[in-house]
Amino acid sequence: MVDLKGQYEGIKEEVNTSIAEVLDSSAFINGPYVHAFQKELEDYLGAKHVIPCANGTDALQICMMGLGLKPGDEVITADFTFAATVEVIALLNLTPVLVDVEEDTFNIDPEAIEKAITPNTKAIVPVHLFGQCANMDAILELAKKHNLYVIEDNAQAIGADHTFKNGDKQKAGTMGHVASTSFFPSKNLGCYGDGGAIFTNDDDLAHTIRGMVNHGMYKRYYHDVIGVNSRLDSMQAAVLRAKLPNLDEYNRKRRNAARKYSKAFEGQSNIAVPKTVNGCEGICDSCDCHVFHQYTLRILNEKRDDLAQHLNDNGVPCGVYYPVPLHRQKAYVDERYDEADFPVTNQLVKEVISLPMHTELDDEQIEFITNLVIDFVNQ
Ligand SMILES: *Cc1c(COP(=O)(O)O)cnc(C)c1O
Repeated sequence: MVDLKGQYEGIKEEVNTSIAEVLDSSAFINGPYVHAFQKELEDYLGAKHVIPCANGTDALQICMMGLGLKPGDEVITADFTFAATVEVIALLNLTPVLVDVEEDTFNIDPEAIEKAITPNTKAIVPVHLFGQCANMDAILELAKKHNLYVIEDNAQAIGADHTFKNGDKQKAGTMGHVASTSFFPSKNLGCYGDGGAIFTNDDDLAHTIRGMVNHGMYKRYYHDVIGVNSRLDSMQAAVLRAKLPNLDEYNRKRRNAARKYSKAFEGQSNIAVPKTVNGCEGICDSCDCHVFHQYTLRILNEKRDDLAQHLNDNGVPCGVYYPVPLHRQKAYVDERYDEADFPVTNQLVKEVISLPMHTELDDEQIEFITNLVIDFVNQ
């Protein structure tokens, strides 16, 4: 699904030099490399504060801790996403409220959010799934109207732009009160181990969170709040510093591959290609409307599982993200949920399939993959 080795070949010198510097300095935790990466990412995003941490799941949890969410508070998030989001809500004894998503973008549906708001609702967690921002115009409006926090789960869309209805553009992860991201190796900006970060433009929240990631300490060995131990190490920061200057180019390559995939699938009545709705028609070359963490098709003639098998048999990796709606996962089933409220997610889990997507895909590979898919679904 990804070609991390191919990508490494292209930046080997920068990465090796950067790591060698860390080894020479012996500053393995925090220190100048983590700090430099933090500043560089703040500049890239146009975010006031970036707080690095150990992984994207921690980042989400710390966002919720930082906002002071309390047991009983309801947090609305998407039914169709990776489990990390609902997991941390549950771990903090908050009440997860899963809602349906939109068919064309796979992102949380603002109408479903509005229906789910109660007097106990405290926050909305939109996940910018597969590399495209959720409908932030509608979500921010709802949050304002109902006085809710917005926590963006930006693990899959770093570098993406959201174009607001008035034409303003903002980077994914800088629009809500606070955001989380992941630097897991396969993410668009991945390190060579685990890593994550929290973004916010709020000075007070940034201060609170900086202590929380370090055992609740604001002064060494004085613990003012309950915190966690969640750090980005200097080796990972060194890798990320070498990669960040290439992020836009990496995302452009992904978009390029996506455009070629979609072009090949044009006119295929059994295949729905991913839609970009974010200010652009189609998949444009010039802006970061979608950064294609995944290129996800919907197979409309019930052949999805057989197609996955066929691709595997032919040496083409593929993924089903995600095969089970969160409201039906054993850990999160709850009598509060009504199947009738999840028509889109229930359908998507049967139709979606993600094709290989990375920075090193070439035309020959794309042609081979698209031919396999087209021949099989039309059999
Ligand atoms: C990857 C991912 C996470 C978790 O990130 P980790 O670094 O693996 O903990 C959270 N949310 C989404 C949507 C993700 O894709």
